[in-house]
Amino acid sequence: MDLIKAIDRALRTTLGPAPAALHEPRFVGREWDYVKECIDTGWVSSVGSYVDRLERELAAYTGAWHAVVVANGTVGLQVALEVCGVAQGDEVLVPALSFIATANAVRHCGAIPHFLDSDADTLGLSIPALKVRLQEVGVRKDGGLFNRETGRRIAAIVPMHTFGHPIDMPALMEISASYGVEIVEDGAESLGSMLNGRHCGTFGRLGVLSFNGNKIITTGGGGAILTNDPELARRAKYLTTTAKRPHRWAFVHDEVAYNFRMPNLNAALGCAQLEKIEAFVADKRILTERYAKAFSDVSGVTLFRERKGVRSNYWLQTLLLDRDKAHLRDSILAATNDAGYATRPVWDLLPDQVFYRDSPCGTLDVARDLASRIINLPSSSQLVECKTPV
Ligand SMILES: *Cc1c(COP(=O)(O)O)cnc(C)c1O
Repeated sequence: MDLIKAIDRALRTTLGPAPAALHEPRFVGREWDYVKECIDTGWVSSVGSYVDRLERELAAYTGAWHAVVVANGTVGLQVALEVCGVAQGDEVLVPALSFIATANAVRHCGAIPHFLDSDADTLGLSIPALKVRLQEVGVRKDGGLFNRETGRRIAAIVPMHTFGHPIDMPALMEISASYGVEIVEDGAESLGSMLNGRHCGTFGRLGVLSFNGNKIITTGGGGAILTNDPELARRAKYLTTTAKRPHRWAFVHDEVAYNFRMPNLNAALGCAQLEKIEAFVADKRILTERYAKAFSDVSGVTLFRERKGVRSNYWLQTLLLDRDKAHLRDSILAATNDAGYATRPVWDLLPDQVFYRDSPCGTLDVARDLASRIINLPSSSQLVECKTPV
């Protein structure tokens, strides 16, 4: 009971009187101007100057050579996997502790997700667990990597930077190079996050961002594929725009492809939002400092902080309960939500979803432990603006 009271007090100190949502969009820039221009000119749909501009500006901001904007992050992951060769019947290594889209995108390619454990210091895919698993089941033959237990090709690894905290990409890239397997980064939560000064989503063969309404910037709904490979970028653009041959009037399509475009209207919103990303990250980091101060004398919980050498965007603020307090998680969630603070547990592990029960899986001790102890706190960057008595 004392812990619940102490958490309520820390939230009140940091956020002021409730309510506070988990994560709300914030429009403080040129959103109205850009969106209005689309409406005034009639360029609201699948092509337009804001689509090209957002692609250019995302590439410039992240340091990726190419960016292709798409309808959402999930289809971005699907197409990124597809263009790097993931096909029907392949296996793809993904963290068990992730949002459902990471695994669904693999299934949308006809491939099977293979779930791995997490690291407690990053909350992301465990590098040691990956090494152990590949030693157990990985076998190199015919120029590829195969799972000796299922006979399937292991075509890719999809690390995810949980709540904006980058995982150790150089270590992962070493493993991927030695086993000859591609990396597609699920960077949906990590726009603005860096590792050794390099942006998340630019380490793998391809990386994917999301601009859903709850992410650090939003286009309403949307996503982007990042890559340094011009051929993969061209292919991703082509596949997401119906594989239509450029022609002044003819409708010639080369293959069955997708309409996964981001409309110009959404891209316009995105251009205005991207102008504010550094301000959003700065405010989120101030919010982290305030939470850290408020929770510093609450025993039984730890605020999750970034590691040395990384800059997290702190998309979602994360409280870790001590193991002997994990049984209080749902009471804490109930009490804080009753008080108007939108706290949330982390996702259920992906292999616990009924439709992924039969997927291959490594040991998941750390992921299970983390999932039982994580509580996300209200995290909108605008929470530092008002209310605060600090
Ligand atoms: C949000 C999110 C996605 C998918 O994004 P949508 O744009 O909502 O399709 C994928 N992976 C993770 C980890 C996410 O948080």
